[in-house]
Amino acid sequence: MDTDVVVIGAGCAGLGAAAAVRASGKSCIVLEASDRPGGRAWTAYPTALGGVWFDMGAVWFHDAEHNPLVEIAVAQGGALLRSDDIRTERTYVGNRLATAAEQDGYAGAFDRYTAAADALLARHADIPLRAIAESIPDDPWAATVEAWEGPIICVTEADRFSARDWRNNALGGSNLVPDGGIGAFVQRRCTAGLDIRYATPATRIAWGGPNGRATVETANGTIVAGACIVTVSTGVLAAGTVQFDPPLPPSVLESVAALPMGLAIKIALRGTGPDRLDLPTHCSIDRQTMLGETLIPFQCWPFGRDYVQGWIGGDRAWDLSRAGEDAAADFALEQLRALFGGRVDRLFAGGGRLVTGWDADPWVRGAYSSCLPGHADARRRLAEPLADGHLLFAGEACHSPYAGTVAGAWLSGQDAARIALQALTSGASYKPAPTSHP
Ligand SMILES: Cc1cc2nc3c(=O)[nH]c(=O)nc-3n(C[C@H](O)[C@H](O)[C@H](O)COP(=O)(O)OP(=O)(O)OC[C@H]3O[C@@H](n4cnc5c(N)ncnc54)[C@H](O)[C@@H]3O)c2cc1C
Repeated sequence: MDTDVVVIGAGCAGLGAAAAVRASGKSCIVLEASDRPGGRAWTAYPTALGGVWFDMGAVWFHDAEHNPLVEIAVAQGGALLRSDDIRTERTYVGNRLATAAEQDGYAGAFDRYTAAADALLARHADIPLRAIAESIPDDPWAATVEAWEGPIICVTEADRFSARDWRNNALGGSNLVPDGGIGAFVQRRCTAGLDIRYATPATRIAWGGPNGRATVETANGTIVAGACIVTVSTGVLAAGTVQFDPPLPPSVLESVAALPMGLAIKIALRGTGPDRLDLPTHCSIDRQTMLGETLIPFQCWPFGRDYVQGWIGGDRAWDLSRAGEDAAADFALEQLRALFGGRVDRLFAGGGRLVTGWDADPWVRGAYSSCLPGHADARRRLAEPLADGHLLFAGEACHSPYAGTVAGAWLSGQDAARIALQALTSGASYKPAPTSHP
């Protein structure tokens, strides 16, 4: 054997798995298709935005009070920015600011929406997220909450997202940003001492060999391991980029199909003049929406920088991403123009712009997993060990309650590693290890 455990992918799940294997004293090789660690945790320094650090994917440590990566950051003395504390919020109704009474109505809207969800889920095994807003048609803010919880946060339209899964993974707590970016944090703090082979995509995994052994073929040769942990996205699994021999059982394929990738794009527009649209630093703006209407919230002048950043999720994100950077930037400008008028064109004329495109990355193929209505058990099923614990799937799609996050990815990698280590030490059998799920 070349190694005890081979891990496919050096995103947060793969790094979490490799860290756990290494801590146990067993050997581990991580195969990474791209030329960097972190996967969807990637900090870039785009010249279009003046070279400042910019997270192309993940930004926040959600539920910071329980987030395992916050513990690592704190233990290593990393600075964490409390973006929740410095943020101000402006909500628009049509093209004007919401009145105080309207803002009061909006302030309680999430709780009303959640109560409506719980009432429906008490009567139904599952429903599409859309049914929640439809059940409270007289609530003027229900569609706005749906726009946030569906396309923006769950990166999928509400009629195609499981309300049960949404409820299982609704996160509380505060959101922290590691100073310098989450991708830089992962690269600096989560890769030390690991044997990571970059530019080495796995192409075929022969699993269930003698003693559960796995043989992984790559463009750079073959690796034989006692156990294999696969952490690629459900988008990559669905595309069949990695072949499995024997083919994966129907339960895995069904889970992958039930957890398709959703998409969100970030559109950053850099201002060229002194105008700041009369908005304070780190100002979030959103707008009351109707059901099915696209909401594009903006974060303006984050950390005092000279750009605004819009976020679009769901079908509109796929459409704009395919249409290209100019179409996405034009859409964002149109939204800003409706609120601030022609000064927007003067402010952003000739300024740099950046549009993220995770759908075009062949090693990711979207932003993060969504969950089809009626399939809220798919995350748990995808994480079920194969070959007596010698072949495991991990990654954000496999975790609950931190689905779709860096924390969920990290914890699912660690869970998979525990099972693999148990399988390695107890021969061909394993007993399910206690999971990290609270
Ligand atoms: C725009 C955006 C915003 C987000 N915001 C947040 C946020 O604020 N907070 C948060 O917690 N999460 C956020 N997320 C989600 C978070 O980034 C992901 O949930 C998490 O990073 C996924 O980690 P992972 O290890 O499961 O998968 P990945 O990060 O995708 O890692 C998988 C790795 O496998 C590699 N790979 C693929 N195919 C192969 C192959 N054949 N062989 C070898 N390697 C391969 C890939 O290159 C990749 O590096 C965001 C994501 C996006 C896209």
